Amino acid sequence: MDFTLTEEQAQLSDTLCRWLEKEYGFEQRRDTIASKNGTCARAWTGLSDLGLLALPVPEVLNGFGASGADMFGVMEALGKALLVEPYLATVSGIEFLKHDQDRFAGLLGQAASGVVRLACALGERQSRFDRFDVEMTTRIEGGAHVLNGRKTVVVHGAQADHLIVSARTAGNTRDPDGITLFVVPSDIRGLCRTDYRTIDGMRAADIEFANVRLPDSARLGAAGEAWPIIDAVSDYTCALLCAEAVGIMQAVNDTTLEYLKMRRQFDQPIGAYQALQHRMAELFIEVEQARSLAMLAASVARSDETSKRRHTISAAMIRVGQAATRVGQEVIQMHGGIGMSNEMQVAHYFKRLSVFGALEGDIDHHVARLARQPEFRHPD
Ligand SMILES: Cc1cc2nc3c(=O)[nH]c(=O)nc-3n(C[C@H](O)[C@H](O)[C@H](O)COP(=O)(O)OP(=O)(O)OC[C@H]3O[C@@H](n4cnc5c(N)ncnc54)[C@H](O)[C@@H]3O)c2cc1C
Repeated sequence: MDFTLTEEQAQLSDTLCRWLEKEYGFEQRRDTIASKNGTCARAWTGLSDLGLLALPVPEVLNGFGASGADMFGVMEALGKALLVEPYLATVSGIEFLKHDQDRFAGLLGQAASGVVRLACALGERQSRFDRFDVEMTTRIEGGAHVLNGRKTVVVHGAQADHLIVSARTAGNTRDPDGITLFVVPSDIRGLCRTDYRTIDGMRAADIEFANVRLPDSARLGAAGEAWPIIDAVSDYTCALLCAEAVGIMQAVNDTTLEYLKMRRQFDQPIGAYQALQHRMAELFIEVEQARSLAMLAASVARSDETSKRRHTISAAMIRVGQAATRVGQEVIQMHGGIGMSNEMQVAHYFKRLSVFGALEGDIDHHVARLARQPEFRHPD
């Protein structure tokens, strides 16, 4: 398999890296995190002007129809810059809308041009990473869908203009069947969002739905049949997260290498010690292995071969998750005490790497999912 980026992919990634270096520095990011809603309107416009929001949107809707592999270089660059804008949440939302393209063509167009931001409200207090574990209910009343329940840790939930929400129309709490998706405008009556900052400088929200009434045109896909869509979009999001983590690990390794050359102890740079050179070499291997798995994940991110897709995505989440933990912890240790301080960018890389497994499933979750795939089952 060829893992080199195509000329267009490399060009896009280079352009984006240059823009981020100029417009999205450490200081600006820090101000954004400290601001009231935790995002930067100017940065959002910049991302939109670069065409990044139109990337995954189909060409028939004035997008670029980018593949998972096309998105790899973009997410890697955004990882290096530690972007805190709601890009990933919106792109995942776009991926949902594409499953009901005719009904949501207008909203897809608005998302592509950066006019609206999206977020995916799927997780609940009891569900952890099992997105089929849905307690939120919906019933039909006077021709409207009436939603009741609570979604937790919705990444960029309070910054989004529209939410993609899962609710149960039939079955028991953990049944994959009987789940329906809805696209909910965030200013609708009955919806209450509690916004908070997460450890990595992002934002998330807990969202209450109290008799939220929606017309049938808000339904995404067929009633009760949303699980395969949720599963597919979660896998796509996992692939993008892996690419982002690779970008962060690459940046943090580069930063640490510079530090080892600069920091002097006993009259020489600490990087002159073989013990530290070996540690850096091991971190290099960690990133290269993680990169290979992440690229493989990007290449199957939208595959219709469900078992192969799940298998590859979970394998990538496991290997990238292991690398994220090791690289994050090692670089902090090699920086000494200052690596823990908020003034150092390495501390922020560490925080983002630390939440990697908390977003779309930790290593235990993906090991268990990998083991459930048909090719891992013991023959009867
Ligand atoms: C959470 C936390 C709590 C702390 N609490 C305390 C505390 O209560 N009291 C206290 O005194 N300190 C405390 N510290 C500071 C800590 O002891 C120092 O950060 C640590 O000793 C590293 O020293 P340094 O910062 O000078 O790093 P550096 O000397 O810059 O070392 C950086 C890296 O190089 C390695 N290294 C350095 N010299 C050599 C060498 N000759 N050969 C091989 N490798 C080498 C180190 O092991 C480290 O990995 C704390 C640090 C943290 C992160």
